Amino acid sequence: MRVWELARAGDSTRIGREMYEWIEDLYPLCRSMTGEGLRETLRRLARLVPLTIQEVPTGTPVFDWTVPREWNIRDAYVKNSRGQRVIDFRESNLHVVHYSVPIHTRMPLADLRPHLFTLPGHPDWIPYRTSYHEERWGFCLSHRRLLELETGEYEVCIDATLGPGSLSYGELLLEGETSDEVLIACHVCHPSLANDNLAGVALAVQLARELAGVSRRYSYRFLFLPGTIGAIAWLSLNEPSLRRIKHGLVLSCTGDAGSVTYKKTRRGDAAIDRAFTRTLQERGDEHTVLEFSPYGDERQFCSPGLDLPVGCLTRTAHGGYPEYHTSADDLALVHPWALADTFGKCLAALGILEGDRTYLSLNPKCEPHLGKRGLYRRALERGPAPDSQAMLWVLSFTDGHHSLLDIAERSGLPFQSIRAAAEALAAHGLLAEQGVIAPVPAPVNSRGARDGSRLAG
Ligand code: ZN
Repeated sequence: MRVWELARAGDSTRIGREMYEWIEDLYPLCRSMTGEGLRETLRRLARLVPLTIQEVPTGTPVFDWTVPREWNIRDAYVKNSRGQRVIDFRESNLHVVHYSVPIHTRMPLADLRPHLFTLPGHPDWIPYRTSYHEERWGFCLSHRRLLELETGEYEVCIDATLGPGSLSYGELLLEGETSDEVLIACHVCHPSLANDNLAGVALAVQLARELAGVSRRYSYRFLFLPGTIGAIAWLSLNEPSLRRIKHGLVLSCTGDAGSVTYKKTRRGDAAIDRAFTRTLQERGDEHTVLEFSPYGDERQFCSPGLDLPVGCLTRTAHGGYPEYHTSADDLALVHPWALADTFGKCLAALGILEGDRTYLSLNPKCEPHLGKRGLYRRALERGPAPDSQAMLWVLSFTDGHHSLLDIAERSGLPFQSIRAAAEALAAHGLLAEQGVIAPVPAPVNSRGARDGSRLAG
């Protein structure tokens, strides 16, 4: 089975339910940029797909950055004068500002107050905050809880360590027929947030599992990285092999009820940009295609010195939903149907990349006689007019300068109809793939065939 057949054959109910179950399993873990929560997440993913867990030691220089110290947290709380935990890390791992330095002291509310973060506009939600690059400590809580805090003395404890260790990430390569790669990256550094991070992680895992079972032209490299520093570290450590990456995609926020958004690569006209644009147009559902903007890990992959063609697939774009980076990005925000829908569209776009070829007509002078080869009749018998139309479009543009994707765009016909037409024509010796030794054609016009063979070399 090929990738485009998988796109049609998948059981979307099972696929969506599985992804949702993985999200449920991973949701409680306290992930961060580094540390045991991240490592345990990668270990659980390694039970689903055979990824390897890589560790980059603290202090390793990676381009202009340095791998940070490892942060691990056991407990954190604020207790009132009666010894009650009024802010409790055990209730939600969002309650602590991630990468807070350890502290254990007593202080009045007035001194504690600058270390407390809330969302007055959403008084029941806990914000998600980090302090990766500044030595600070803090707590996040609902605004409603903040208003309940009495003046008086509080015991403040963040039982965390920040020290030498490593930055962990997961990597999986599915080798294909060629060493040309499709890179699929997601980030794994957020704590209990469901759509932002975990939905993309689950989608990457499901793609890896499904792609593993089919014939692949491309090799697929999956990366499960902490945001920003993870991408920078991976790119820095793998620079010599980046030239293998022909197409790339960052997955994020892929499970909410909003419609699908694809953000283009910095180049703006890469094959992956066209494959997603075409897929979303063909599907006909509401969708958005955005031009590149420097947000998310794609800006590292696309940076001018590397210039990899990496786009970004989300449903509602980053920050485009109010629950983003708050406790309301929870299990209720993601839906199995939405996860399955994103998966199906992603697989369809990969199916275009897999099926795109440039062919040469071996009978380029006037239209070949389709009827005597049974091709015209077959097209009519099958019923749908696009089959014969697709053949005529393919025959008109297989001049060595137009790929099948070019022809699909130009004709407005579904890419897979164009691909199927080209394969049928090639099977009858009427086309040869550019750069591939031409099969011996059934000679209709010997001059045409000779021309084609010469050009195909
Ligand atoms: Zn985020």
